[in-house]
Amino acid sequence: MNIAEKIALIAEKIKEVNPCAQILAATKTRSVEEIREAVGTGLVAGVGENRVRELLEKYSPDFRWDFIGRLQTNKAKYLPGKVTLIHSLDRLSLASVLEKEYAKRGEVCRVLIEINTGKEPNKGGVFLEETESFLERLREFGHIEVKGLMAVTPLGFSPAQSEKAFDAVYEKYIKLADGYNFNCLSMGMSGDYLVAAKHGSNLVRIGRAIFGERL
Ligand SMILES: *Cc1c(COP(=O)(O)O)cnc(C)c1O
Repeated sequence: MNIAEKIALIAEKIKEVNPCAQILAATKTRSVEEIREAVGTGLVAGVGENRVRELLEKYSPDFRWDFIGRLQTNKAKYLPGKVTLIHSLDRLSLASVLEKEYAKRGEVCRVLIEINTGKEPNKGGVFLEETESFLERLREFGHIEVKGLMAVTPLGFSPAQSEKAFDAVYEKYIKLADGYNFNCLSMGMSGDYLVAAKHGSNLVRIGRAIFGERL
């Protein structure tokens, strides 16, 4: 199957479990040609990159680019004007730098708060129970608009554990959605996108299932 055929199949499966869920193509290490083929299907909302340098090399204004990887504060200045949504706001120091860079350009920075579902010490993300206090502290940043939550489940999680984690994040998302004007819950990757979509995700980030294994 080529890229377009794989996406068509994935889109169909997702629609069966959650008609509201969209696909973001996770495009780290993929070529511009592969990216264009994916976007050309009209079945993906856009693409998500993990590294700023790679995003800048491949960037085109023709479609939506999101940033989904861990963001170093010294790279934040490259994102205004290019990126639609940053999925990985995971610390106050980063929010502070994004605020400065977006304010400088008079732009609004749209972000998701990354939740550390497995409480892994070496992973980025806010613990679920800290979401509200983190949101409160973001209020001082006039150029940052939080659109929802993002979660990655730890590698070793069983399907049952992932399900439970997705449910917990979804519950938090629903609790906060009205008050904060959320519209995006970014959960699910190649291995678990159907489970995530079934459990409330409305944006799944898919790489390998679309483009094949990374070399
Ligand atoms: C690479 C990546 C994905 C996609 O992972 P696949 O397993 O290739 O589908 C999704 N989200 C993030 C944050 C990633 O880094």
